[in-house]
Amino acid sequence: MKKIVAWKSLPEDVLAYLQQHAEVVQVDATQHERFVAALRDADGGIGSSVKITPAMLDGASRLKALSTISVGFDQFDVDDLTRRGIVLTHTPDVLTESTADTVFSLILASARRVVDLANWVKAGEWKESIGPAQFGVDVHGKTLGIVGMGRIGGAVARRAALGFNMRVLYTNRSPNPAAEKAYGAQRVELAELLATADFVCLQVPLTAETKHMIGAPQLKAMKRDAILINASRGATVDEAALIEALADGTIRGAGLDVFQTEPLPADSPLLQMHNVVALPHIGSATHETRHAMAKNAAENLIGALDGTLTGNIVNRDVLKK
Ligand code: NAP
Repeated sequence: MKKIVAWKSLPEDVLAYLQQHAEVVQVDATQHERFVAALRDADGGIGSSVKITPAMLDGASRLKALSTISVGFDQFDVDDLTRRGIVLTHTPDVLTESTADTVFSLILASARRVVDLANWVKAGEWKESIGPAQFGVDVHGKTLGIVGMGRIGGAVARRAALGFNMRVLYTNRSPNPAAEKAYGAQRVELAELLATADFVCLQVPLTAETKHMIGAPQLKAMKRDAILINASRGATVDEAALIEALADGTIRGAGLDVFQTEPLPADSPLLQMHNVVALPHIGSATHETRHAMAKNAAENLIGALDGTLTGNIVNRDVLKK
């Protein structure tokens, strides 16, 4: 019987599905040695939110497939997996709409200061009718700049253009004609997007090219009243530069779902800033979507192990080997 290592707890029905096909060993990824030892005689693996380094796979000679319960696959060295003949699968599409909802909640919460003012009310500060010190800025009718107009970027653009009458600009290495046609989105260079957008929203994957793509020069190039939204990966932004820009008023604020270090350390200056909305990486975190992702990832893994999977494969080249 095949053996699967799971390094994330799985919903009962998903676990039962996997157990119909293989022996499933659940491991605690924080117990590094045990985790690596379990991979050594496994045929497949499923999980998320843990860095899987090449060294961890040395000796895992039976390993044929790894399935990440996420769309992003920056926790893996894809070229190394391909060299080893290991298929990597991921879960695009099922999480797109929930993640776009999170992005939009960050846009609204940052612009209208929802968290800051809700805390102010709970602290008993609401003693008279509010004034300009409690005002926010409008979202409707403003310009949204999306960096990375893919699946999630497109779903954010739909909310912005059709729901909030926003003008949508975007950057991508390749054009997205569907978003241009459906939402009037306009492809521009990053410099123009930064100089024009009221909200700059990052939705690129984390790669060598996108790491720190927003740093001090890019933050300076944004409008002083602009808000940065990041629900991609923490490392797409130079966090030290962002903290400085938020502290000195280079930009108005930030809505962040992802950080350089997660969980966000308790001494992060971001936690003290009134112009920051910080969420604990909840992009896709609804009961419905997390279940759909786990199910999708389990089906991907079984399909990859029995050689029937055709979609959701990150490293298609491995199939040519
Ligand atoms: P996707 O469909 O692949 O979209 C990514 C877009 O980024 C593509 O349109 C791609 O277009 C563009 N892109 C890639 N490299 C670029 C570059 N160097 N410069 C400009 N654009 C670039 O992926 P998705 O499903 O929308 O997911 C996007 C990312 O969101 C994931 O990789 C993940 O890291 C993150 N995410 C976060 C959460 C969360 O919980 N916060 C949840 C889900 C996803 P081109 O290739 O044409 O450039």
